[in-house]
Amino acid sequence: MSPHVLILGGTAEARRLAADLAARPGVRVTTSLAGRVARPAPVAGEVRIGGFGGPEGLADWLRAHRVDVLVDATHPFAESITANAARAAAATGVRALVLRRPGWRPEPGDDWHFVGSLDAAAEALPRLGRRVFLSTGRLGLAAFRHLTDLSFVVRSVDPPGPPLPPDTRVVLARGPFTVTDETRLLRTHRIDVLVTKDSGGEATAAKLTAARDLGLPVVVVRRPAPPAGVTVVPDVAGVLARLGLSSPRGSGAADTCP
Ligand code: NAP
Repeated sequence: MSPHVLILGGTAEARRLAADLAARPGVRVTTSLAGRVARPAPVAGEVRIGGFGGPEGLADWLRAHRVDVLVDATHPFAESITANAARAAAATGVRALVLRRPGWRPEPGDDWHFVGSLDAAAEALPRLGRRVFLSTGRLGLAAFRHLTDLSFVVRSVDPPGPPLPPDTRVVLARGPFTVTDETRLLRTHRIDVLVTKDSGGEATAAKLTAARDLGLPVVVVRRPAPPAGVTVVPDVAGVLARLGLSSPRGSGAADTCP
């Protein structure tokens, strides 16, 4: 009987893990996407789309589809689904891992201002600059709508919906971005302050290097802590090692999963 791994996705790591598992004989892999992005990047293996209906719905899905391992590889700021996954795993006894890339760390020359929420970021902004690059995604932008004296550039994969701050320019783009791309964007729009979530990872880190090079302050929204008691691993290799699948693809090591 093939072990069935359910990956809660929406990140590059989730896609990498799905590609690795799908290439192994004897492993069935399903990736679940929330359905937020109109045209998601291709994913190897089976894909299902849409919410489960809370932790109970996810628990039902795990039972109905005979899932052996649940890997929560969602974005570090996707707090609800991570909490739901922990509860569903506890309710069903399904083995669960959280794949969470480490957060970013400031380097010499960085001028970072850590805050606890998008609201707190909005509160900090007027003291730091007037032309803002808001790279926090297309959701939650209402937190900035009262900042009528500031100009915003918002970058997201799909267009953000209202309410937005009145002076907002939208740039539609999907990472990864290079330092050259980011420096050009910051210069073109004469940005003097950035706002980012502490997403971590390489794909969107170039903006931080560009900000350092240009001497710009960065407001960094701290990530929520994972639920108590969950097993967190920092990368795909960590998940594979936990599952006894760390040897190269196709070596037959899949027999040890889960
Ligand atoms: P969220 O607030 O934690 O989740 C809200 C609800 O969306 C969940 O309760 C669940 O609905 C559904 N959901 C979320 N992820 C799902 C998944 N992978 N498969 C099936 N249902 C899912 O999440 P969010 O912040 O809106 O993010 C949504 C998705 O976008 C996540 O999968 C995440 O990996 C990805 N993403 C998020 C961010 C971010 O900054 N938050 C950035 C990049 C990518 P039910 O309760 O009905 O099951």
